[in-house]
Amino acid sequence: MKKKTVRDANVTGKRVLLRVDFNVPFVPKTTTIADDTRILAVMPTIRYLKKHGAKLVVCSHLGRPNGKVVKDMRLAPVAYRFEALLGEPIIYVRDCVGPMVRQAANELEPGQVLLLENLRFYAEEEKNDASFAKELASLADIYVNDAFGASHRAHASINAVTNFLPAYAGLQMEKELKMLGTALENPAKPLGAIMGGAKISDKIAVLRNLVQRVDRLIIGGGMAATFFKAQGLQVGASLVEEESIGVAQDILKKAHGNGVQLFLPTDVVVADSFSADASHKVVGIKNIPATSRIMDIGPETVQQFSRAMRECRTLVWNGPMGVFEWEAFSHGTRAIAETLAGMDNAITVVGGGSTAEAVEELGLSTAMNHVSMGGGASLEFLEGRDLPGIATLPDKDPS
Ligand code: ADP
Ligand code: MG
Repeated sequence: MKKKTVRDANVTGKRVLLRVDFNVPFVPKTTTIADDTRILAVMPTIRYLKKHGAKLVVCSHLGRPNGKVVKDMRLAPVAYRFEALLGEPIIYVRDCVGPMVRQAANELEPGQVLLLENLRFYAEEEKNDASFAKELASLADIYVNDAFGASHRAHASINAVTNFLPAYAGLQMEKELKMLGTALENPAKPLGAIMGGAKISDKIAVLRNLVQRVDRLIIGGGMAATFFKAQGLQVGASLVEEESIGVAQDILKKAHGNGVQLFLPTDVVVADSFSADASHKVVGIKNIPATSRIMDIGPETVQQFSRAMRECRTLVWNGPMGVFEWEAFSHGTRAIAETLAGMDNAITVVGGGSTAEAVEELGLSTAMNHVSMGGGASLEFLEGRDLPGIATLPDKDPS
């Protein structure tokens, strides 16, 4: 890990502005947090900083208030859950800048935690505004970014703030960079990628990057239809992105040219309509009925994919194999997740919002080496891009 981390900083007695991603999902129309994984994820950094006598100024965004105070997007429910998980009181202020907030930050004792209000109540946050960033920075002596999931955004608390304070990566950020970074840059070989999801157009840049790095490329999900079309197969009423057929052909060509072993489904589950209770059956890919659409990979494909995966030493997975939200079409995704979960001698890394959700629902998160917390951010990372919140963090001093 080449970025300086919180372990490289002297935090004792210092005020630390800690950017976290507390953008948690809520049970619809309530203030009940549906999933507190994102809060749990930063607890190691919080505990580390407390233990070392730092004064914590914690900040986050929540939802899309678009630069205005939106009552339902206050961080109050997050503050309660955070406090419960921490097991001690925190101080929660109803703003994130200004004299009242500055006073609260100044009065912090070592080990105390102050939580600021939703950063996106100020339009300046999403504009990466320098004076807003400077005001945030004025609350602390040191800045720590532990919000990997927001680090693909050039926002004031992620990017501009690093112009005003010495900046470090938090422990969750460190883990994300280590796991995703190693998979791309220095993986145990063979390296395999399993790609799926609804649309190839969302994943073009990821496919283009991975096809240059992997030994095996395994493709399922809705996007397989576009690859079939690119190979001249008939896919019935499946969703095909006509404008991406050329891209699929190009990926196939690059895979061939780079000596990448490519795996596409040999059988699929097709349905008469796009619905949870549609009548469905397994067919070979050469026998897709004209009125049917592909909803999942078939059992023969599951076997084939699992065999290909088991010979890899590093596996990166992004994109469900089928419409996993519906029981009838969830088997492929579940089987791939179970294969990954059972691979004790490989590094398994999961990225993407829906894929992480699927793994979580199956109760298999802890069986993976890493499930990225950053949906969009993990995809941009897999695209090989420099993320504005990460590129701006300084590297470790050469030793
Ligand atoms: P991630 O968020 O992990 O990057 P995506 O958003 O690309 O994943 O893909 C997730 C979506 O893909 C799911 O909602 C799933 O229902 C859908 N999907 C997977 N396979 C198919 C298919 N054959 N037809 C339609 N949708 C599909
Ligand atoms: Mg998604």
